[in-house]
Amino acid sequence: EIELRGLLDECREELGRFYEERLIELIFEGAFGRVRADAILMRQALLNILRNAAEAIPDGAAERKVFVRGRYELDQRGNGWNVIEIEDTGPGIPPQNLERIFIPFFTTKRQGHGIGLALAHRVIADHNGTLLAANSNRGGAVFTIRLPALAG
Ligand code: ADP
Ligand code: MG
Repeated sequence: EIELRGLLDECREELGRFYEERLIELIFEGAFGRVRADAILMRQALLNILRNAAEAIPDGAAERKVFVRGRYELDQRGNGWNVIEIEDTGPGIPPQNLERIFIPFFTTKRQGHGIGLALAHRVIADHNGTLLAANSNRGGAVFTIRLPALAG
């Protein structure tokens, strides 16, 4: 049983330099809740998404922010979900790529491996959760993680 906020704080620690070097602000909002998870795998999944978010913001961009928003949702069956949205101020994902980014080895980066999102998707699915990618109406990419919530 882990606190998502604690896991996210560890990610912030781990990525601190990476974000500082790029002058990107990492902003946590809302409440994150508790899940049953392998902390090492789940931390890796979050790190991959948060690293991509920072990499997506071009050097010259004026707005340099990554928002991590937490909320609790109840579905029609009465099951509780902890939802984490990770939104960046980069250019977003071209619509034709939205279906491909979770496929292993898909990358649009010169030095990319195309493994990060495939792994994140797999880890979250193995925890009975979902990972969705979209673009926000502000233009950046937004990744939505849903994980079954633990009570309390
Ligand atoms: P890599 O980072 O090595 O390219 P990933 O699996 O982490 O591999 O990501 C796959 C691809 O998804 C990236 O190459 C990029 O095209 C796209 N992508 C991932 N995150 C973002 C993001 N936040 N904004 C825009 N594109 C993204
Ligand atoms: Mg990556």
